[in-house]
Amino acid sequence: MEFNRVFIQPQKKIKKIALEEHFLTQALAPYSANSEQGVTPEAMEDFKKRLADFDGLRLEEMDKAGIDISVLSATTPGVQVEPNAIVAVRKAKETNDFLAKTIQRHPTRYAGFAHLPMQDPAAAASELERAVQQLGFKGALINGHTNGEYLDDEKFFPVWEQAQNLDVPIYLHPANPKVEPVVLSGYPELAGPMWGWQTETSSHVMRLIVGGVFDRFPKTTVILGHMGEGLPFDLWRLDSRYVIVPHSKALAKQPSQYIRDNIVITTSGVDSFPPLLCSILALGSERILFSVDYPYESSQEAADFINKAPISETDRERICFRNAERILKLA
Ligand code: MN
Repeated sequence: MEFNRVFIQPQKKIKKIALEEHFLTQALAPYSANSEQGVTPEAMEDFKKRLADFDGLRLEEMDKAGIDISVLSATTPGVQVEPNAIVAVRKAKETNDFLAKTIQRHPTRYAGFAHLPMQDPAAAASELERAVQQLGFKGALINGHTNGEYLDDEKFFPVWEQAQNLDVPIYLHPANPKVEPVVLSGYPELAGPMWGWQTETSSHVMRLIVGGVFDRFPKTTVILGHMGEGLPFDLWRLDSRYVIVPHSKALAKQPSQYIRDNIVITTSGVDSFPPLLCSILALGSERILFSVDYPYESSQEAADFINKAPISETDRERICFRNAERILKLA
């Protein structure tokens, strides 16, 4: 069929930049223990091997899938669950220095997102500045709440201010909630990446919106993985119900407008056409970025998905690399 030839089989290889690609160092490994529950030991062993590798398996899988650049970040939750802020500050710096050295070995293949010690917001803000200005990183990836405190809390405003001043995005990545939500109790399969992370992270974004963070820092860009954690599906209802519920704060715009203006999303871990098409219609193809979520997802599957998506070549190019080049200033 002509349709298949044109839409299902792209004619040329398209450059790909992936943004939610994780690593783990020995110093950060103890923090991930909680996130390992519910994964089979065999799968975890494979993840750990890939998380610690930068010169072999990772580049092989990128090459096979046709991924040109991976923007690397420490896997969830990292130092954000460290109880001692001084230790968190030290380990975050060490992680960023390690990542900078790794990128230096493969400067055309890797870029970096900073790991931040959010327990000390002033230190996190200056570490973000150091990571961007001295190490050449493209922004930061923050793993959800820090000890139960979310990024709408005024104590974190120095980090937002720094991100806005530096004109770099904050990737808001899921983490386990501090307290298990009652509605998920008794079903461990619901707690993590299958379901709980999505509600935790989309709720975090809604706190930022109704808490006025984007009115205070209107030029900030938040990157959400997993096709926007469900939010592109919800825009109309957010606005329709917002008018009839009590407001904690007066907002300058309708809730959906902040998602359109301050949020961009990645395709990490969602290789499915219906949510991709919904996201293009809801946000526009200039706000959707290709990603894998390596090593937890297959690079090949993610690349095949976007290569075969029933979208225009203009949209495909934006999603595969043009939006990333613009937002991360990679071009
Ligand atoms: Mn991830």
